[in-house]
Amino acid sequence: MKYESEKQVAIAISHTVAILCEQIRHQYAVTTLHKGDTSPVTVADFSTQAIICQALEAKFPDDPVIAEEDAALLTQQGTEGVLNGVIEQVQTVLPDASPLDVIGWINRGNGQIARRYWTLDPIDGTKGYLRGDQYAIALALVVEGVVELGLLCCPAFPFDSGKNQASGTIFVGVRGEGSYMLSLQDKCQILLKIPQKLGNTPINRIESVEYRHSDRHQQIALDQALGITQSPQQMDSLAKYGAIAQGKADFYVRIPLREKPNHKENIWDHAAGVVIVEEAGGKVTDLDGIPLDFSVGAKLSNNRGILVSNGQIHTQVLEAIAQIGA
Ligand code: AMP
Ligand code: MG
Repeated sequence: MKYESEKQVAIAISHTVAILCEQIRHQYAVTTLHKGDTSPVTVADFSTQAIICQALEAKFPDDPVIAEEDAALLTQQGTEGVLNGVIEQVQTVLPDASPLDVIGWINRGNGQIARRYWTLDPIDGTKGYLRGDQYAIALALVVEGVVELGLLCCPAFPFDSGKNQASGTIFVGVRGEGSYMLSLQDKCQILLKIPQKLGNTPINRIESVEYRHSDRHQQIALDQALGITQSPQQMDSLAKYGAIAQGKADFYVRIPLREKPNHKENIWDHAAGVVIVEEAGGKVTDLDGIPLDFSVGAKLSNNRGILVSNGQIHTQVLEAIAQIGA
């Protein structure tokens, strides 16, 4: 099996941090800092990044990690309370961790692109996390610009086994070997294969909860071009890729806002989802039908927007995108 040890490390550590993130979310009023782009970041984001980077350093010391958070924000004046909270939370998992260790592990996420690297979003959808909705711990291994392994740990995502629903799903995809989902509650595991859609079933679009992460006017124009009349599902984070890999949504589009036409997406906001959806039978490209290029840096600089689909309607949606001039 390809990347078996990487996969097992990723599953084990995401399980540990999922429990921690849920404990933080349920037990504390989560203290929030704001980054330069005004997006929120919490004790849980930093703690997750530290714990996952520590595990990757221990098992794969030569692999760089490109992750979302930077400890610089934690060492500024006025943020001591958050730093202390992060140290306290990391020590619940790694009791011997010193403050310098914790900062070092967070900053291990400032790596550079290499032939083989990991990319990590410790909490994707922090706004969803704070609201009590969906979020994802997203970890992917990229080799020669191709996502080989992707893991999305979604602690609030119902694990639907067909018999019962329990909270917490880990989606895993390995290039060439398929995708599956694992229950966070027990060892139940289900293969993901997007079902064939019947010709007359309405297309079911999914979108972000945050309306400024993709152009809503263009999305509505796209719905009209495709004859979609039902309202889209809304979901925070990369969990949307999980919904498509399950066949619970047919496509998801990310169109740069009109006032930010040159907006480029972060690699950690997509990498893990790409291999999970593709191995389940779906397709991911940019708005021009070009595959996502993970070899250039922390941004998808060679791509414009994102289209994730069940594969079956990909060409149809690309044509509609071109038709509306998005
Ligand atoms: P979602 O819940 O799918 O909207 O994804 C949340 C992610 O959106 C965050 O991790 C941010 O990196 C990203 N984000 C923030 N602002 C924008 C924007 N203007 N356009 C696209 N993505 C954004
Ligand atoms: Mg993110």
